[in-house]
Amino acid sequence: MSAKKPSDTEEEYFAKEETARLHALAVAKQRETEQHDLEAQKKLHWMHCPKCGFTLDTVQFKGLAIDRCFHCGGTWLDPGELEQLAGKEHGILNSVIGLFKHAPRASRDK
Ligand SMILES: [Zn+2]
Repeated sequence: MSAKKPSDTEEEYFAKEETARLHALAVAKQRETEQHDLEAQKKLHWMHCPKCGFTLDTVQFKGLAIDRCFHCGGTWLDPGELEQLAGKEHGILNSVIGLFKHAPRASRDK
């Protein structure tokens, strides 16, 4: 058998189309689930201390809104705030900044 009947070819075409459509739906559903999970994680952890889980309070310091845990005493900075605090001074703080400057960061919405 060298050639398929037209109906076989047509059936194969529609089966491939359906498979591609279902695959695209599965990918979209996966992305939706991942986004939903990220939002759920953010809602669960937003403004909670990463060390002890206590609620963080915002303290104004030198024009920055710094997140502080009054339970364990931890102080948390948002991206860029450490650099702002360090300013252009050289010293230990800039050494710490340099240490993390090129560290990869998971993408996230703020
Ligand atoms: Zn804490």
